Amino acid sequence: MSVNQQAHTGPPYGQPQPGYQGYQQPAYGGQPLPGVPQSQYGAYNGPMPGYQQPVPPQGYFPSLGFPSKGSPVSLNSDTSSLAPNFIGSLRAPPTSGAPPPASGASLPSGHLAYGQFGHGDVQNGIPASAAPMQRPPASQSFLPGSAPTPVSQTATFQQYGPPPASVQQLSNHMAGMTIGSTTASAPSPAGLGYGPPTSVPPVSGSFSATGSGLYTPYTASQGPSPTSVSQGLPLAQPLFPGQLMSTQRLPTQVPGFAPPPSSAGIGPSSYPPSTGAPRPPTMPGPPLPGQTVAGPPTSQPNHVSSPPPPSTMSGPHPGPPMSGLHGPPPPTHPPQPGYQMQQNGSFGQVRGPQPNYGGAYPGTPNYGSQPGPPPPPKRLDPDSIPSPIQVIEDDRSNRGSEPFVTGVRGQVPPLVTTNFLVKDQGNASPRYIRCTSYNIPCTSDMAKQSQVPLAAVIKPLATLPPEETLPYLVDHGESGPVRCNRCKAYMCPFMQFIEGGRRFQCCFCSCVTEVPPHYFQHLDHTGKRVDFYDRPELSLGSYEFLATVDYCKNNKFPSPPAFIFMIDVSYNAVKSGLVRLICEELKSLLDYLPREGNMEESAIRVGFVTYNKVLHFYNVKSSLAQPQMMVVSDVADMFVPLLDGFLVNVNESRTVIASLLDQIPEMFADTRETETVFAPVIQAGLEALKAAECAGKLFIFHTSLPIAEAPGKLKNRDDKKLINTDKEKTLFQPQTSFYNNLAKDCVAQGCCVDLFLFPNQYLDVATLGVVTYQTGGSIYKYAYFQLETDQDRFLNDLRRDVQKEVGFDAVMRVRTSTGIRATDFFGAFYMSNTTDVEMAGLDCDKTITVEFKHDDKLSEDSGALLQCALLYTSCAGQRRLRIHNLSLNCCIQLADLYRNCETDTLINYLAKYAYRGVLNSPVKTVRDALINQCAQILACYRKNCASPSSAGQLILPECMKLLPVYLNCVLKSDVLQPGPEVTTDDRAYIRQLVTSMDVAETNVFFYPRLLPLAKADVNSDSLPAAIRNSEERLSKGDIYLLENGLNIFVWVGVNVQQGLIQNLFGVSSFSQISSALSTLPVLENPFSKKVRSIVDMLQVQRSRYMKLIIVKQEDKLEMLFKHFLVEDKSLSGGASYVDFLCHMHKEIRQLLS
Ligand SMILES: [Zn+2]
Repeated sequence: MSVNQQAHTGPPYGQPQPGYQGYQQPAYGGQPLPGVPQSQYGAYNGPMPGYQQPVPPQGYFPSLGFPSKGSPVSLNSDTSSLAPNFIGSLRAPPTSGAPPPASGASLPSGHLAYGQFGHGDVQNGIPASAAPMQRPPASQSFLPGSAPTPVSQTATFQQYGPPPASVQQLSNHMAGMTIGSTTASAPSPAGLGYGPPTSVPPVSGSFSATGSGLYTPYTASQGPSPTSVSQGLPLAQPLFPGQLMSTQRLPTQVPGFAPPPSSAGIGPSSYPPSTGAPRPPTMPGPPLPGQTVAGPPTSQPNHVSSPPPPSTMSGPHPGPPMSGLHGPPPPTHPPQPGYQMQQNGSFGQVRGPQPNYGGAYPGTPNYGSQPGPPPPPKRLDPDSIPSPIQVIEDDRSNRGSEPFVTGVRGQVPPLVTTNFLVKDQGNASPRYIRCTSYNIPCTSDMAKQSQVPLAAVIKPLATLPPEETLPYLVDHGESGPVRCNRCKAYMCPFMQFIEGGRRFQCCFCSCVTEVPPHYFQHLDHTGKRVDFYDRPELSLGSYEFLATVDYCKNNKFPSPPAFIFMIDVSYNAVKSGLVRLICEELKSLLDYLPREGNMEESAIRVGFVTYNKVLHFYNVKSSLAQPQMMVVSDVADMFVPLLDGFLVNVNESRTVIASLLDQIPEMFADTRETETVFAPVIQAGLEALKAAECAGKLFIFHTSLPIAEAPGKLKNRDDKKLINTDKEKTLFQPQTSFYNNLAKDCVAQGCCVDLFLFPNQYLDVATLGVVTYQTGGSIYKYAYFQLETDQDRFLNDLRRDVQKEVGFDAVMRVRTSTGIRATDFFGAFYMSNTTDVEMAGLDCDKTITVEFKHDDKLSEDSGALLQCALLYTSCAGQRRLRIHNLSLNCCIQLADLYRNCETDTLINYLAKYAYRGVLNSPVKTVRDALINQCAQILACYRKNCASPSSAGQLILPECMKLLPVYLNCVLKSDVLQPGPEVTTDDRAYIRQLVTSMDVAETNVFFYPRLLPLAKADVNSDSLPAAIRNSEERLSKGDIYLLENGLNIFVWVGVNVQQGLIQNLFGVSSFSQISSALSTLPVLENPFSKKVRSIVDMLQVQRSRYMKLIIVKQEDKLEMLFKHFLVEDKSLSGGASYVDFLCHMHKEIRQLLS
């Protein structure tokens, strides 16, 4: 038994408890992590008075001054020498500490949006019973429910403890390549407070009655469930002439598959099994004219590397307003008339052969390549198969008009594509947590049978729309939050108060805990505390606690975090104008650092480093007249040559910082240094944060493969010939474990690394991204960066990245009620044990996906509970706990599971699972496993839930009818099936991006949004109705916009009216439209305004600024565009939707027979 299972013996009241040590991990205590030598940096732990003038260590050159603009000193030529590098001494007279100019202090209107915790929403202590806190009686249903009986507890807890080896391997596998060795070690003392004990204290039998019935498990008699609105409507419509669907099981039936004898063209014999079918060693798919990258395309999508376009336009770009980070909600609009014929479950008629869909699998090698395509006597009509657009539109019209009230257990929320408001009545908003299913099978046997993964996609710091209330901050003073004595779960709406309110029974582990005297409150006649509505932690799904000092590293409240800007000043960075651009931008951007809502200025301190083969640190102390540079050329043993003056307050050092940012581009203007280091840069930032005893974020702007002699030096090992071989996985793995160890050190310090990459060739994203990935940071990549075309995108990304809400030094744990357990985790983080997700930084866009497995039976009565607790340091240095609670239903009928699934979340999980799998398995194995799992999911439904019907019919569960189309998109994605134009770095980049995506992001990434523009209503704010992603849906006379979260394509048909072209592009004919445009021209006419407003609206909705690419029909760039028409067969061999559906049908039939 592990230490996790020690019974808790701490005091019963709310004081600091031993269990809190759970967050005081060795890594946070400044002590060495197991196996990580720390002595190397020992000298820099702690403040070092008098350090400003030490004996210069080897390789370190103090500089007395700073070159003026007029006398740049060429640094690159002599930095490697050991001679002191005095660069000028043109100090101006001291400015006598005059206050910094107030210029730039005005904030953009939307700035407050980043101060999540102010605006009068903060509640310290017991909130007044103000209107917002009043909740309707409906929320009573969320009082703690019937708890498991003591008898079952004892049995249940035996299941806790260290997970089996297989689980550990899963976790290790996910967290990174070299983590395995550490995770296999014994749980850290951190685990002490969390694990349930081996023995369960006797529980008074008196509460079993108290709680009964307080939960209101969903039953049909309680009126229509939310799911029945969108998904559960009985299908009375004839599917096709002469056939009626069952009204009970609510499946989706695809008529083209029934009955088998007549549908010879798609009979199973036509398709060899996917498993075992050899893939060709090279990329399949016939090259199209123009596909060879002979000449530079005029533009490329965000992650596709090809030579940059010559730019002709760099007009002012209407960037997204700052306020837009909450984004105007996309207006809902009525279903498109063209889709009215389609209803749930009804997919129209079988059409004759379609010219665009010649054979079912002609030439597609992925699912077998038996000689000769099958005869296509009868093709599936694409209109007859489930349409993503239709599902999205139906959900919008059914669920977009009313708020989603979270007061009912196990409610499936509206789709991520539906615009809806959330009212928290005891469960976390779907903006924070989405689940693959809201109804969990009661037994693991059922779960295994269905193969439906049970997972939650959690975005703990999600940004909310302005209409919704931010989580309240609860301050219990020195005693801290009230927690269960045993499992350490935090007080939440599901805890059940008993014995007149003197004790409460834990909804997670059933342990009974004394209520601390200061927290005591009487119960009303229903057993509810009379202060129920006054306390967020009793009545809301999401809230925050102010953490006490026990939740802090070294039992010390944290210092405010710091941002360190680290700029590559090698030849390419300078020559492209990047260095000057960054410096110019920082001058204004530093005024918008994140801050608490009630603070006048940000508490975040800033520091600056430039580097090529050596590092340059800058002293920007406010008392200096000019910044001072210190060069460290001994990169083998990185240290920070100055403490005082490196990290400064922006307002205090405004003049010195401005001077520095003016001088950096001049100083390196003539550099000839092309080589860079990389790991020492991260080490320098890490050491600086260590010395300052704070957490923080490094913003690294980097251009090339770090080949200079230094730790972490890399070599070019790109080899696309490895694709489709057993060694393909190495392309996704880091080439050295050095960065894994560095990442571990960074996490221990709370040093988050954000990486902005500007490569002109391979720079090994898979390795450079390791630290970013494991510290919870973000990677941005701008291949062939060109100032004219890419600066808007880069600057918008940088602005948002600097300003967005971020928590530092974060630890997340997900607790579950008895019967299920979090077993696997996906995302950008580090894990040193099997339960705690550690992130040096966690921002508002990052999600962590958690998979659950049964370890006991669940009960329909009590359901299943999740509590996600995130401990983090706010941007002002406040230590906080953010709590999200969610209650799910449990079922003994598989049909209930299938009725309450969310396919978008399922796809999010499956994509992350597959993208992690490519690290260890051949890509083909990963793809086959995905197909097989989904076939099993659908076959289980067919076998157990669908009404008896011909075996030749494909019957899909209503909630999963889009599973095949979306799954196909994942299978065709660049990571799992790269096209010839996709680089190794692109794939590594996409792999990392997807791993942290939320459900809305994966939804649009895998199935892009395609909007026809020509007939857009210029007088309305609404978006035109989207259409399906297939070439046959495009009209030559229309203009379309396609977005996937990384790119926006504007496709112009050859027959578009001249007037539209004039209005949108300001030119008189199709041939004059320039594909090099990176923004749409600003023209004063309604159509131009409308299209630009749509683009702006989409930009604001996404976490990254999308690259705009103009595509003219029949132009060579159209190949790139077609890559995103995901219902069609892809150039890289990906199946069309129709063909893939046939294939899935065959797989399902094989499983059933
Ligand atoms: Zn408990």
